[in-house]
Amino acid sequence: MIEFKSVVKTYDNGTTAVDDLSFVAPTGKITVLVGPSGCGKTTTLRMVNRLIEQSSGSILLGGEDNARTDTIRMRRRIGYVIQNAGLFPHQTVLDNVCAVPFLNKSDRRASRERALDLLELVGLDRSYASRYPWQLSGGQQQRVGVARALAADPPYMLMDEPFSAVDPIVRKQLQDEFLKIQADLAKTIVMVTHDIEEALKLGDQIVVLKEGGVLAQVGSPAEILANPADQFVADFLGVSRGYHALSFERIDRLPLEATPAVRVHERLLGQASDWVVACGENDEPLGWAEADGETLTADRITVAAPVSLPRGSLRELLDAVLASPSGRAIVVNDGGTYAGTIGHESVMRGAMGSLETERAS
Ligand code: ADP
Repeated sequence: MIEFKSVVKTYDNGTTAVDDLSFVAPTGKITVLVGPSGCGKTTTLRMVNRLIEQSSGSILLGGEDNARTDTIRMRRRIGYVIQNAGLFPHQTVLDNVCAVPFLNKSDRRASRERALDLLELVGLDRSYASRYPWQLSGGQQQRVGVARALAADPPYMLMDEPFSAVDPIVRKQLQDEFLKIQADLAKTIVMVTHDIEEALKLGDQIVVLKEGGVLAQVGSPAEILANPADQFVADFLGVSRGYHALSFERIDRLPLEATPAVRVHERLLGQASDWVVACGENDEPLGWAEADGETLTADRITVAAPVSLPRGSLRELLDAVLASPSGRAIVVNDGGTYAGTIGHESVMRGAMGSLETERAS
């Protein structure tokens, strides 16, 4: 765990960048620092590994005051990822990733092997190892940056706008892959972003800062969406707050309807123009087809992504309903087999219910 206790940072020119900041970043979780530009996020992050010294207050890593710990030893326990990856341009990908274990004087062969494994972990083929950073796309460089930060297997990671410099599609991929890696590695992470959507998606906990480095609110994404501490937080969350809040609403309380399902190569029975659920051989839904008494062939399926009954959110359900030709979302069991459908009326009732709970609380 990383603990901030009444931390203040005033720069030499008199700017107070962080003002009496206290919060705990829990072990094995992602804490996201978010807020508008200039509110002290980067200053806060860099005080953890003492790239910036605080003016007063203390920061504890696993209970140890970082001002009293040997800086080099402390930094070896912290992986650091920055925007644009910050790779050494004259070194190969492999040497970039190995840079940290070498500092730690690990065995050369072992650290090469580990670097190659890490490249795979972050989704890069081993063949990239001998390339130079300029031969990689922005997203690939960022992956190398993450691999390098993980190289010494540090318990802590600091990430400063790690996914900001890439286009939205690559960013989403990097975020999704990062969440998968974190599910296995469970590092204690503090990450900075100015992007509230990214904060809500990645954060187990969100720390919202406002101008002058003042803490506005700490909480889980669901708590912050449901109960913004003040107008500043509400404005920062924006007009789509209600929609985002649906991401944290489960769907297993909504009624399922047994819409008929047909397998490929079976006949599409039912009322003409009724939509039925098209399934593959193992009862996995593929999409929708119109019932017309003919045999179902693959080309007649309007593909639709199903929503998982145990894990899906109301937001996914709403998106599925909006994208569906039948106005209904297809729902699957844990194993991916067809469970039933949920129509837009139920989704809206569920959404209105959650908004009312939010208003009442
Ligand atoms: P953020 O990461 O939220 O954009 P920063 O931590 O970079 O915010 O900056 C917080 C405030 O401190 C800003 O007003 C910024 O101008 C100021 N600041 C940052 N670095 C310095 C510095 N080295 N000297 C003086 N002021 C600084």
